[in-house]
Amino acid sequence: MDIHEYQAKELLATHGIRMPRGGLAYSPEQAAYRATEIGGEAWVVKAQIHSGARGKAGGIILCKSDNEVASAAERLLGQKLVTHQTGPGGKLINRLYIEETVPIERELYLGFVLDRKEERIMIVASSSGGMEIEQIAEQEPDSLVRASVDPGLGMQQFQAREIAFGLGLDGALIGKAVDTILGCYRVFRDFDASMLEINPLVVSKGEVIALDCKMSFDENALFRRPEISELRDKSQEDPRETFASDRGLSYVGLDGEIGCIINGAGLAMATLDMIKLEGGEPANFLDIGGGASPERVAKSFRAVLQDKNVKVILVNIFAGINRCDWVAEGVVKAIEEVGVNMPLIVRLSGTKVDEGKAILREKAPSVITADTLKDAAVAAVAALKSAQRSAA
Ligand code: GDP
Ligand code: MN
Repeated sequence: MDIHEYQAKELLATHGIRMPRGGLAYSPEQAAYRATEIGGEAWVVKAQIHSGARGKAGGIILCKSDNEVASAAERLLGQKLVTHQTGPGGKLINRLYIEETVPIERELYLGFVLDRKEERIMIVASSSGGMEIEQIAEQEPDSLVRASVDPGLGMQQFQAREIAFGLGLDGALIGKAVDTILGCYRVFRDFDASMLEINPLVVSKGEVIALDCKMSFDENALFRRPEISELRDKSQEDPRETFASDRGLSYVGLDGEIGCIINGAGLAMATLDMIKLEGGEPANFLDIGGGASPERVAKSFRAVLQDKNVKVILVNIFAGINRCDWVAEGVVKAIEEVGVNMPLIVRLSGTKVDEGKAILREKAPSVITADTLKDAAVAAVAALKSAQRSAA
């Protein structure tokens, strides 16, 4: 789960990290008022959306008067900002963060991620801040400093010092950078974050200041972090994914027309590949998990049908813990209760497969059945092409 920049900054502030003074605004009038409250002669108006690279997309506007702040707010609020991270649909700007400007002497990069392979928190820093980490890794690989934290010991002072030296800092700035790095580490660990990025971390008038901050959290840990789940902003999420995650389904929205209902992430990936190989495009990834009840299968149909691009549905089950008869009952339930007005291809294999097939024959004769993954993908793509032909 992602949160907004201002929310991440509020978390950082609780651990002593320095940042420009700022305030939140939902309207142009409020934005101008915030600027007066903050004081000074210049402000940045920052679009709060779940994406980085807002600056290049026009979502960060420098203003020299409260009138300019109000008109920048007027321009941004209610618009969708398209960055290279949001996809072509962009993300709706419904709040702004107004900040005092600070003079920038040096721009640094500081990032914390969970290295799942090493099972450790990794810190990556660079003296070339301001550009994205992928760019830094490509253009300035020598500027990168890394450290990884032993989970039994926690991050050590000396590790933070090494990073500060690696960033080329000296004098009093070292201690300030160490406090910032250790503070960030504590925020990351205490709130079960999966990513924390400060880009840029700047040196300004003898201080180390977080100008920007992005954070993401481990969704599996949200149950024990109510203060973080509170920060969720559904307006920033793909509505199809919100619908599915609210119902405990593991779903990722894609751009194609073939809706997929599959058990197991591996089989789901293989099915997406097979659909593409046959010349189709999947509309989603959906893993119904193990031991799925008929109700859960019907719920999955509801989630897939949220997507108006879906023209064909493919159900692919290799039942081990699952039972084909339950899945078949779920398909019948979906047809009866949800309504499936499009070609539906079902491939069942494994536990109780004969019972499952019998249920479909008897109660859902319109279903196209397939025996193998390949047959199922071929049938789904053929059904899509014929649906497209008859629509044209
Ligand atoms: P992002 O584009 O989404 O990563 O948003 P940022 O918050 O990083 O802002 C983009 C850029 O705007 C930064 O890299 C800075 O160069 C610039 N910027 C943001 N705040 C200030 C500020 O207070 N003073 C100055 N001089 N530049 C700023
Ligand atoms: Mn940034």
